[in-house]
Amino acid sequence: MGSALDGDQVRVAAVSPSAEQTEVVIIGGGAAGLAAARALHDAQVRVLVLEARNRMGGRIYTRRVRGLAVPVELGAEFVHGRVRETLELAAEAGLMLDELSGAWTSIEGGKLQTPGDDDWQIGAIMQRLQLDRTPDRSFSAFLDSLRSDPESAGTVAAAIPDALRYVQGFDAADPDRVGERWLALSEAASRRDEHDHQYRFPAGYDRLTDALAARLPATAIRLATVVRDVEWERGRVVIHARTVTITARAAIVTLPLGVLTARVDGTPGPVTFRPDLGPEVRDALDGMAMGSALRIVFRFKAPFWEKLSGEGGGRPRNDLWFLSIEDDTFAVWWTSYPMRSPVLTAWVGGPRAAELARFTSDELVERALRALGRATGVTRTRLRAMLVDAWYHDWTNDPFSRGAYSYGVVGGIDAPRVLGRPLEDTLFLAGESTDPDGRGGSVHAAIASGERAAKAVLATLG
Ligand SMILES: Cc1cc2nc3c(=O)[nH]c(=O)nc-3n(C[C@H](O)[C@H](O)[C@H](O)COP(=O)(O)OP(=O)(O)OC[C@H]3O[C@@H](n4cnc5c(N)ncnc54)[C@H](O)[C@@H]3O)c2cc1C
Repeated sequence: MGSALDGDQVRVAAVSPSAEQTEVVIIGGGAAGLAAARALHDAQVRVLVLEARNRMGGRIYTRRVRGLAVPVELGAEFVHGRVRETLELAAEAGLMLDELSGAWTSIEGGKLQTPGDDDWQIGAIMQRLQLDRTPDRSFSAFLDSLRSDPESAGTVAAAIPDALRYVQGFDAADPDRVGERWLALSEAASRRDEHDHQYRFPAGYDRLTDALAARLPATAIRLATVVRDVEWERGRVVIHARTVTITARAAIVTLPLGVLTARVDGTPGPVTFRPDLGPEVRDALDGMAMGSALRIVFRFKAPFWEKLSGEGGGRPRNDLWFLSIEDDTFAVWWTSYPMRSPVLTAWVGGPRAAELARFTSDELVERALRALGRATGVTRTRLRAMLVDAWYHDWTNDPFSRGAYSYGVVGGIDAPRVLGRPLEDTLFLAGESTDPDGRGGSVHAAIASGERAAKAVLATLG
């Protein structure tokens, strides 16, 4: 199994900028932090990005493997919709995007099944979510109301298990905690973004973060710098990391929600704010939760799924993209289509993914292979013989993310907006969890939040 530790060092600041040199410190070198840094740098503001890992990108984590033309994505993989932030940046940097239009199908008993209209049925359920529902309630409670509503009998009721899987798999959310209002906002944003259009960077998602960082001088990014403590007052911040102390006029804090809400217990990641962020921000943080997601990327000797035939004698096909299988855990898989390769990704989202984080990577690989073997009819021994490698990154226990991506809990509809408000024109929170428009949990939300924070800083600095 390939090691899933952080990748190679990309950039190192040759010199630690002095207090006079830095006007704005940015904590975190993921999409949000780099987007903020780029916008401020373009406006002639001297910025310094402090990043805990020895690579940029945060939850965009691409690895390249010798002899394999497709990149191995361990974090974000898809561009969900026609989203301005990502598509403009890709066009500006000349990055190629593949639009994904392969077949969605399921595999049972070693046969490809004819794709159903599950999507439409899930859509029928999600469209019933109410943005102004009072009081707010959980998705589970919303589904209970559908079950007891005679008008929802039939196809809608039959699609409830799929809708549950969708909210856990796509939103990485716990159905008992995620708020109906937050989900309604998120679904409306998806429709506006034309979510049915999905893209992938064939050269790897990290090309996008590289593009964000391209104009920054090497001295503007300091890797392997774990911030521990932020002292702040109006117009001044002092940031303490293990190896450096930086003073600046303002700070943009892009720490993932899981890190912001973690107890400061001496482990790396969590940051002490002095004074604290205040009751309003703490309440808003309680209105959000960090979801869990787990993916394992498998490389086989050959794309054996292209040989599976359809039920009733249907021919094998080489345009397979999403494959669902009957399994309590590893039910969702996808190929690298439209690139044809021997790579298959297994995906689990929601509370189940958090539970699985206690297993070793070898155990997870074994479980996923068994599930795949049962569905495809390929024996475990044969699957093992065909397996070349597998990669996995444990986002749940990663000290610098502590989960995959955020969602709003019951009553938390306004939380991202509150988090995005500047504190004393000095601390500016950004990152995917601060997106007020229901696009949280995505790369485009992270970029938008960084741009928004940079704009607010510029307004403050005059
Ligand atoms: C498995 C997985 C799959 C995903 N799939 C998709 C997808 O297909 N499409 C999509 O749009 N989105 C996807 N996402 C979500 C997307 O990756 C994130 O929403 C986005 O990358 C978040 O960017 P960010 O800048 O807000 O946070 P991050 O990328 O997490 O950046 C925050 C940075 O802060 C750093 N940091 C943490 N603690 C400290 C500290 N104490 N000191 C200094 N630095 C610190 C972290 O190392 C990190 O680099 C996925 C996420 C995961 C985990």
